[in-house]
Amino acid sequence: NIEAQNARESLYIVSEYAANYFANEMWAGEQGRAIGLSYFKERGFREDIVKKFQLGYSPDVWDALIQSAVAAGHKEEYLEKTGLSIRNDKGKLYDRFRGRVMFPIHNFTGRVIGFGGRTLKTDKNVPKYVNSPESDIYHKSNVLYGLYHAKKAIRDTDNCYLVEGYADVLAVHQAGIENVVASSGTSLTTEQIRLIGRFSQNVTILYDGDAAGIKASLRGLDMILEEGLNVKVVLFPDGHDPDSYMHHVGSGEFKKYIENNRKDFILYKASILLKEAGTDPIKRAGIIRDIVESIAKIPDDIKASIFIRECSGLLQVEERILLSELNKIRTAKF
Ligand code: ATP
Ligand code: MN
Ligand code: MN
Ligand code: MN
Repeated sequence: NIEAQNARESLYIVSEYAANYFANEMWAGEQGRAIGLSYFKERGFREDIVKKFQLGYSPDVWDALIQSAVAAGHKEEYLEKTGLSIRNDKGKLYDRFRGRVMFPIHNFTGRVIGFGGRTLKTDKNVPKYVNSPESDIYHKSNVLYGLYHAKKAIRDTDNCYLVEGYADVLAVHQAGIENVVASSGTSLTTEQIRLIGRFSQNVTILYDGDAAGIKASLRGLDMILEEGLNVKVVLFPDGHDPDSYMHHVGSGEFKKYIENNRKDFILYKASILLKEAGTDPIKRAGIIRDIVESIAKIPDDIKASIFIRECSGLLQVEERILLSELNKIRTAKF
């Protein structure tokens, strides 16, 4: 209906205003240049990347955005409904994002729908990222950070790189790879995978090379297989994430690394799990079952049978044993 549409439109408009405000603070504000822009530069991000993603800075003041937006004719109601501002118990409105570098989140048509804000403090008690709350225009489980800037390249290359964080999207772009999105601020959802599926059937996971990232990659790969998409994984060494690794080795080496270390999900799972199991035969049997469980998620039988063959060769187990295991899992499911 028209009224709801108008209300949503107002939320888009105030979000766009805020993105411009934060960007302007960073490029023209004293605090913004000294703190915000220098922060990105110190992390090795180029100006063109900072501009392309409309990055900004929120001044370390209780109501800087509110003051500016209201003076420009925006209603407090919409600042509140987007979560850009919060009303306290006493009825006083204050800004959610203060003294943070700002990452506007766009929907895939390019409209600003929310924000991620990173602290510049190293204090462990301060949350590293603060994200916009759910609103009438921002449903985080349906959004992929960077999709608007990536969708053409995802189609053209017929592959989508999936990373964890905002900075990873920027770094991979800076390396000249534009087909990259992040599930930022949420663990990967089925909706997000379907969104990728509108542009390509191929996903390459580039999660952080730490325990949390590896765990998330194993979960993500099963979900991607379940949606019928193809999935590969690249594991980064020494706990690196794509951003830290790109800045560590440079963009040329980074690209080579991704190309040379891309593993299909079976090889990836096998290499992770075999490392954990060592030579213990019972543990190794568990791994085989674990991999077959992933294969069982693939809706297409022909694809599944191809992976069964690969798994058989890799782990030296007869194909018919794997197939009977596969059937057991599938019957148990239905
Ligand atoms: P950076 O490189 O800026 O330190 P990162 O992206 O490497 O950040 P991670 O700790 O790996 O940070 O987290 C991955 C992503 O998860 C972040 O980009 C952010 O979207 C989200 N995230 C991290 N910490 C928080 C938090 N405290 N609250 C909400 N979301 C968070
Ligand atoms: Mn991490
Ligand atoms: Mn990270
Ligand atoms: Mn990082």
